[in-house]
Amino acid sequence: MKITNVEAIYLRLPVVERRTDSSQDALLIKVTTDAGLIGWGEVDGCPLVTKAVVEAPFSHNLATGLRDLLIGQDPLEISRLWKRMYEGTLYFGREGAAIQAMAGVDLALWDIKGKAFKQPVHRLLGGAFRDSIRVYASNMFQFTPEATANRAKKAVDAGFTAVKFGWEPFGKDPETDLAMLTAIRNAVGDKCDVILDVGLVWDAKTAIRRAKLFEPVNLLWIEEPLHPDNLTGYAHVAGAVDTPIAAGEEECTIAGFDRLMELGKIDLVQIDMTRCGLTQAMQIAARAAARGLKCINHNFTTDVNTAASLHFLAAIPNAFIMEYCVEPSELSRALVRNPIQIKDGIARVPAEPGLGVEPRMDMIEKYALRN
Ligand code: MG
Repeated sequence: MKITNVEAIYLRLPVVERRTDSSQDALLIKVTTDAGLIGWGEVDGCPLVTKAVVEAPFSHNLATGLRDLLIGQDPLEISRLWKRMYEGTLYFGREGAAIQAMAGVDLALWDIKGKAFKQPVHRLLGGAFRDSIRVYASNMFQFTPEATANRAKKAVDAGFTAVKFGWEPFGKDPETDLAMLTAIRNAVGDKCDVILDVGLVWDAKTAIRRAKLFEPVNLLWIEEPLHPDNLTGYAHVAGAVDTPIAAGEEECTIAGFDRLMELGKIDLVQIDMTRCGLTQAMQIAARAAARGLKCINHNFTTDVNTAASLHFLAAIPNAFIMEYCVEPSELSRALVRNPIQIKDGIARVPAEPGLGVEPRMDMIEKYALRN
């Protein structure tokens, strides 16, 4: 089997609000083969930058687009192709957009491999530790405590047993922050877990003061209180507060996660399949397990990410919950023919060959931005 094409398809809602909300557009990766098998992946990055990484023509041996590197290659040799892409993008890669584009291709290659062997991807990753997993409803903060509490109540009414709220307008002052979190806790009751995603806005001392202030709310974890480069700050916060500290969604390399775990001393390792790819995610999870740390996923895009996350979280021993974006975006809700179903706050791991989700062509037609 040989790869015949690699495409990057940019989908975008007609109206994109200026928020930190990545459910408003999506970059799909489509890998086509001469055997008729098609693999689908996704990248959560800056879509047109990533698309350029895929489409760039050969410049020289260390500066080449992914399509040029992959056409004619055997899609089943995923580790070898990862190395080929890494070396072929070295001048502009090794981090950021190039690695994120490779992650999207990696997901599509795993989808092809599953379809070729007629096995769900988690079986090819080593087998399932679980066939379902608890899910939390992941939300943007709304702009008042009342509107945020309404979102929280809606999630509990839909059967979720854990909710997360994140990003702006959170983090500005202690009174408003505590009012937001108290409104959520009052809306969901004591049995539902509440998770806080800060949005990178504090320094270490502010994070420690806030974590102590929020103790009565009983947060399951506090996510990304600091800028991802502030590793000393992360270590300071993680050592000073009882609430677990999560980070990792800005990272896309094994080296980046090693730094966060080793120097940042984080408690929960948050990996985005559409930025790291399954190939790296499995290695990062093993390095987390060796340090006694649990992994969580990051997912604020489509069901391609959700499906890849489910296979990943099924295939590692150190998982316990999955992020699931509940923003109303149709790209997030209805991109695939067979959306991942959440029942009583639990998602089943797909058992179909490959990733187990297929994008709808009518949705691609509706939202594709052509250039
Ligand atoms: Mg987050």
